[in-house]
Amino acid sequence: MRPCISNIIKWQAGLRNRSSASCEIMSFILHKGSDGPGLRNGHLDGTMSKMYATSCETFPADARKDHPVSDMLVDTFGRLHTYLRISLTERCNLRCQYCMPAEGVELAPSPQLLSQNEIVRLANLFVSSGVTKIRLTGGEPTIRKDIEEICLRLSNLSGLKALAMTTNGITLANKLQKLKECGLSLLNISLDTLVPAKFEFMTRRKGHDRVMKSIDAAIELGYSPVKINCVVMRGFNDDEICDFVGLTREKPINVRFIEFMPFDGNVWNVKKLVPYTEMLDIVGKQFTELQRIQDHPTETAKNFRIEGHEGTVSFITSMTEHFCAGCNRLRLLADGNFKVCLFGPSEVSLRDPLRRGVDDDGLKEIIGAAIKRKKAAHAGMFDIAKTPNRPMIHIGG
Ligand code: SF4
Repeated sequence: MRPCISNIIKWQAGLRNRSSASCEIMSFILHKGSDGPGLRNGHLDGTMSKMYATSCETFPADARKDHPVSDMLVDTFGRLHTYLRISLTERCNLRCQYCMPAEGVELAPSPQLLSQNEIVRLANLFVSSGVTKIRLTGGEPTIRKDIEEICLRLSNLSGLKALAMTTNGITLANKLQKLKECGLSLLNISLDTLVPAKFEFMTRRKGHDRVMKSIDAAIELGYSPVKINCVVMRGFNDDEICDFVGLTREKPINVRFIEFMPFDGNVWNVKKLVPYTEMLDIVGKQFTELQRIQDHPTETAKNFRIEGHEGTVSFITSMTEHFCAGCNRLRLLADGNFKVCLFGPSEVSLRDPLRRGVDDDGLKEIIGAAIKRKKAAHAGMFDIAKTPNRPMIHIGG
C-alpha cells in the first residue's frame, strides 16, 4: 500500500529518527501540495514511495546508533541538529559588500554579548545533548581577544568531534599555530577575488596579501583541505571562477563557490546572482575532467574533483537548489540569541534566561521548543529578500 499524506503526517509526529532522504520527501510534499511529480491524489508514486520506505527502514539502524542525539535537537521533520555555529563577535576588520552596508551596522554594547563563560556553558549544553561539530564565526572571530582560550575550552568538551572556524584570514597567519594547538581542527577562509585591487573594492579594506599568506600558513600547518569560501557576484568576480579553480591544481584546498544570498543591507538583487548551473557550465568548459564526488546527506555543498588536481571544487547552492531537507545547523549569535534557520527571522534569547539563573533543564526546554518550530525549508530567494532578517555580519553565515 502506498503511504498517503495523512499517514506521513502521523509518521512525522511519531518518528524522530529520519534520514535526509525522508526529510527531502517531506519538504517536497510541503512545497508541492498533494499532487504533482512524485504524488498522485495525495499519495507518493512508485519511486517516491520506495524512497520513503527505504529511509524509514534504514535510518534508525545506522545513523542513530552512531549519533546518540537528545530529542531536544530533533525537529518535527526528523532532522538531527548536530552542528552548532557560534558567532563570537559582531565586529569585523573588513566591510564586505555582501555582508553589510557601507556605513557599517549597529553593534550591540559589549555587556549584551555573551562572555567566554556563557559561550562555554551554552556550548556544553548543546554538545552534551548530541552536537558533534561547532563552527566559530563572527563578525570576524579572530579579533576576539580570548579566541585561543575559547578554542581550548570548546575543543575539550566531551563529545565534540570537530571545532571549525570561518575567518577572513586578515590576522590569521600569526595566530594559527596557537589556535591549532588549542584544538581548532577545520578551517574556512573567505576570499572573493584573486585581484588585490578588487579585494580592496569588495571588502572596502586592504589586506589581500595577508589572506593569501594565511591560506599558505594553513596549508603548511596541515589543515586539509583548507576551504576557501568565495561568494560569486555577477559583474564583480564571476570572471575569476576559473582562476579560483586553477588554484586547486597545486594547492590542497577546497574552493567553494557560494551563490549570493540576500541579507539585510547587502543590496541583494537577482541579477547579481550567478546560479550554480551557470557556474558549473563555466568550470566544465575549461576543466573538462570535472567529476562529481559523492556528498554526505547533511552536506551543503555539491562537490567535484578534477583529475590531476590536488584540491577540489564545490558549489553552495542555497538559492537555486536549497539543501534544507538535510539541514543539521543551529546558530548561536554573539548577543546570545538562538536562531534555528539562517533565513528564518525568528530568534529566541538564551542569554536572558541564562543570566536570570535558569538551570540547564530550563535552557534545554527553550532550545528544544525553538527547534521544534523550525520550518521545513527556507521561503525561496524572492521571499527571503523581502523578509526582515539580520545583516550577515550579525548572523555569521
Ligand atoms: S535555509 Fe535554514 S533550513 Fe535551509 S539549510 Fe539554511 S539553515 Fe537550514
